[in-house]
Amino acid sequence: MAEPLQDLLEGVTAAWADTMPPSRSAALSRIDRVRPGAYVRTRNHLEGAVTGLSPYLTHGLVTLPEVLAGVLQRESLDIQHKLVFELGWREFFRHVWAHAGDGILRSLHPGPRPDAAYDPVLPADIRQGRTGVPVIDEAVRTLYATGTLHNHARMWLASYVVHLRHVHWRAGADWLVAHLLDGDLGSNHLSWQWVAGTNSHKPYLFNAENVARYAPARWHSPGSAVDLPYETLDQIARSRPEAVRQRWSSISPAQVECVGTTEPALRSTPPADLAVRAPAAGSDDRLRGREVWLLHPWAMRAPPADLHESAVVIGVYVREHHEAWPWPEARWRWVDAAMSALAAERWIVDADALGHALAGASRVRSADDPHLARWLRRVARLDPAPALFPPVQRRCESFSRWWSSATRGLHSAEELI
Ligand SMILES: Cc1cc2nc3c(=O)[nH]c(=O)nc-3n(C[C@H](O)[C@H](O)[C@H](O)COP(=O)(O)OP(=O)(O)OC[C@H]3O[C@@H](n4cnc5c(N)ncnc54)[C@H](O)[C@@H]3O)c2cc1C
Repeated sequence: MAEPLQDLLEGVTAAWADTMPPSRSAALSRIDRVRPGAYVRTRNHLEGAVTGLSPYLTHGLVTLPEVLAGVLQRESLDIQHKLVFELGWREFFRHVWAHAGDGILRSLHPGPRPDAAYDPVLPADIRQGRTGVPVIDEAVRTLYATGTLHNHARMWLASYVVHLRHVHWRAGADWLVAHLLDGDLGSNHLSWQWVAGTNSHKPYLFNAENVARYAPARWHSPGSAVDLPYETLDQIARSRPEAVRQRWSSISPAQVECVGTTEPALRSTPPADLAVRAPAAGSDDRLRGREVWLLHPWAMRAPPADLHESAVVIGVYVREHHEAWPWPEARWRWVDAAMSALAAERWIVDADALGHALAGASRVRSADDPHLARWLRRVARLDPAPALFPPVQRRCESFSRWWSSATRGLHSAEELI
């Protein structure tokens, strides 16, 4: 039994790396292929001309300014262009995260029902892609097989979980972020809150007609639990769970028999065959008087040009983060392949041990990122993360308010670069 399972896992890992090679050059060639006109026309379609850049942006192989600058080399864009706007969502979520901190993990304001009215556990039929609703089961299969999911499919999945099954958004968000190759706590948890209505003024709802318009045929879900008018979906989203259960049993009879899919296991440590180790005894002596650049999974780019030429570059996985937010094996392999191109030495280490291992260094620097800043700032000076839009100091609750402030007085996207 062990061997076929191992083969299967290697197959999944290879599929992630085949479709999205873990390198900066792959990211740059994707930027070269961005077609802004087609993006505007087709981005809502599952087979539309989206950029596929999110794993590279999430892991810092490229930055938002680099993406926009690359696109603008070929075509100028209005500041209100849809692509610029969507890049803005990523930065907006960073803005909210900077102000709310860990508050992004809790409902930002009340949604259609009190938090306690939702089930805190994601049911097995959803995790295993056997709900009998084709759009949901297909989304789960795609997620596990590729580590990615189109934005529209993420919205459908989240809406189904929260508003039709009355599962708390946090349970769904924690599950999804673990399985996405681009899993990012800001974009993911705040998007779930947007769908749930705890970070937006109303719940996001969809139905089978909407799926038929934007997805290939195998996703279509006529006659399933999502084949309902919007008024009915809205009532379900706002009603008591007992009422939902009654309605549920009448619209989803006997939960069609489905094969389902296996949820990949999550790990808080890298696979043993990757050359990622605890810092060797005596690391503090070896690094004595040296400058150190700490590379980490959220900023995998070359060290800054002003780093001393004798500086040591070390890749670091902070144990506390990965214990709280484990990854599937495929993501570990993807990230470490990209990291090993920049850092031969990579550590998995807790924050205290990191401090001890670096104690002798003359200076330690790294790149700021909200996933890790609480630990890294104890040992390193953090260079600010590259931003695309001018900073908006005052906290904006809505994207539209943030967008107006961030783009005030600007006319063309070139003015951002
Ligand atoms: C429930 C849910 C969970 C999500 N979780 C994540 C996540 O963990 N990580 C993540 O990077 N994105 C997340 N998103 C946002 C969005 O779905 C992805 O960024 C997008 O699908 C990535 O594909 P792409 O690179 O082809 O996007 P494109 O449409 O080509 O957009 C280009 C880039 O703009 C940014 N962007 C576009 N749309 C959004 C958006 N709605 N929100 C934030 N940034 C956006 C991304 O960085 C993206 O790479 C989530 C959305 C939803 C609804």
